[in-house]
Amino acid sequence: MSETSVAIGRRPGAPTRYGVTRDDLGELLASEGQPRYRADQVWRGLYEQLVGPAAITNLPAALRTRLEALLPLALEPVTESVADDGETVKFLSRVAGGYEVETVLMLYPDRATVCVSSQAGCAMGCGFCATGQAGFDRHLTTGEIVEQAVTAAARAKAAGRRLSNVVFMGMGEPLANETAMWPAVERLHGDLGLSARHLTVSTVGIVPGIRRLTERPLPVTLAVSLHAANDGLRDELVPINRRYPIDALLDACQGYLAAHGRRMSFEWAMIDGVNDRPSDAVELASLCRRLRPAAHVNLIPLNPTPGWPTTGSPLARVRDFRDHLESLGVQATVRRNRGTDIDAACGQLAARHREGQLAARHREGQLAARHREGQLAARHREDGSRDQQPAART
Ligand code: SAH
Ligand code: SF4
Repeated sequence: MSETSVAIGRRPGAPTRYGVTRDDLGELLASEGQPRYRADQVWRGLYEQLVGPAAITNLPAALRTRLEALLPLALEPVTESVADDGETVKFLSRVAGGYEVETVLMLYPDRATVCVSSQAGCAMGCGFCATGQAGFDRHLTTGEIVEQAVTAAARAKAAGRRLSNVVFMGMGEPLANETAMWPAVERLHGDLGLSARHLTVSTVGIVPGIRRLTERPLPVTLAVSLHAANDGLRDELVPINRRYPIDALLDACQGYLAAHGRRMSFEWAMIDGVNDRPSDAVELASLCRRLRPAAHVNLIPLNPTPGWPTTGSPLARVRDFRDHLESLGVQATVRRNRGTDIDAACGQLAARHREGQLAARHREGQLAARHREGQLAARHREDGSRDQQPAART
C-alpha cells in the first residue's frame, strides 16, 4: 500500500509528511474541502500515534489515501541494523538527491535516545571524523530531521518504550544548519513532547550559533566537541577552531550557561598519544572550571576511521584520564561506544556504506586528508619546540 510512499525524486520544496507545519496542514486540508477538525486528527496521528495517514483510522478512507499521496515520507529506508542485543538500531536512509544519512536509536534502562543527523555530510573537515572526511553534500530539511526522530520513536514504541531524548550527534554540524535545525527542535519539543533538557545540540564550536542559541527561549542542552584544550592542538583536530578559538568558544558557552542555568558538556574523543596525556587532563580541567557551573566531560575512545591514521586510547588510559579529571574536581563519564559493530557510534556514521557508494569521492577525501597530514607534519617539524605530539602520526 501507499504507506511507504516517499518523496525521493520529487521536486525540491514539495511538502513532506513531517516537513509541513501545523498551519500548512490546516491549509492543505482546507484546500481539499475538509472540515477544520481534520487537521487535529491528522496531527495527532503523525505525532502522538506515530503512524502515517493510512493508519489514522478516524479519517475517511478516501482522505487517508489522498494524504498518503500528498504527504509522502522524506526518508527512504535503505538498511536497518541491530546491535547490542537489540538495544541499538541504526537506520540508514536515502534522502532527495540520493544522499544517505544515518539515525541511531539507543535503548538504555532509563531512557531511549535517538541520535539524528542534521546534514548529509559535513563541511567542518575534522580529520578524525568519518563524516568530515567524506565532505559536505547538503543541509537536511526540518522535515528530514523530524522524520528521523519520529521513525525512531515509532520503533521505540514497538519495543514498548517511549522516546525520551534526541541528540544532534549524527552526521553534520547542527549549528551550520540552524534554519532547519531549530524548527525541528521546536517540533520535537512542542509536538513530540520532549522536554528541552532532553534535546541535546552538539556543536563543533560555532560561536555565533551558540550565541543565537543563547537568545532562543528553549533551554536545550548544549554539548561542545572540544577534543583539545589548547588552540595549537585544537586547530589541527578541529579546523574551525582557527576561526573560533577556545577563549571565544568558552565566552559563548558561559553566555549560554548564564542565560539558561544549565550545566553543559564537553565531548572528548580520546586519541592515543594525542590528547590523552596527564597534561591534557590538567588543561581540560582548568577549562571546565572556568565555566559556572563547571562543564561535565564525556570521554569516548576515538573510533578508527579509514582516513585518519590514529587510534583510540586504550580503555585503561581512558579510565585513568577520567580519574585524573575527577581528582581535579571535574566530573567525567566514560561513554560506551554504542553499536560499534554496526558502525553506529554517534558522529562516526555512514562510513562503510558510503565507502562503496562514494568510493571515488572517498578516495579523494583520503587524499585530501593525507595532504593535510603532510602539511601538519611539516608544521610540526617547523615547530619542534612544542611539547604536544602531532595529531596525525604516521
Ligand atoms: N558536528 C557536531 C555533531 C556531530 S559529531 C559535533 O562535532 O559536535 C558528534 C560527536 O562525535 C562529536 O563529539 C564528534 O567530535 C564525535 N566524533 C566524530 N568522529 C569521531 C570518531 N571517529 N570517534 C569518536 N567520536 C567521534
Ligand atoms: Fe562535522 Fe562534527 Fe564530524 Fe567535525 S566532528 S566533521 S563538525 S560531524
